[in-house]
Amino acid sequence: MLTVAHAGEEGPPEYVWEALDLLKVSRVDHGVRSLEDPKLVARLRDGKIPLTVCPFSNVKLRVVDTLRDHPLARMLELGLHATVNSDDPAYFGGYAGDNLAGVAEALQLDDNALLTLARNSFTASFIGAATRDRYLDLLSSARLATT
Ligand SMILES: [Zn+2]
Repeated sequence: MLTVAHAGEEGPPEYVWEALDLLKVSRVDHGVRSLEDPKLVARLRDGKIPLTVCPFSNVKLRVVDTLRDHPLARMLELGLHATVNSDDPAYFGGYAGDNLAGVAEALQLDDNALLTLARNSFTASFIGAATRDRYLDLLSSARLATT
């Protein structure tokens, strides 16, 4: 059974531990505050637990002051399975593409980071394995446009 839980956005790392240990989640929605707990970071990394990060929501809810302060790049550096998403687009001011464009510009994410995020979005999704693998193949054969 696939389960997800909102945890670790405004709430502390303990909520993420509970989502993992009590709810046995397959994916954590948000999880940005997991960075406050190195043991939790290791657990998420080793378990390849996807984190659906929502940068615009994190700014609106004052988890970070601005997009430039967002820990997404650090999450990727730490090997966390982070993805970029929207959270209530009408309320937080943008759909998934807007969140990605905004955080990519604010953090000056390089092609490697963008490729990792794209790959993560497929490996974190609950689409079937055949569909997922088809998209991953397309991604690995695609060339990133550089200007
Ligand atoms: Zn939310």
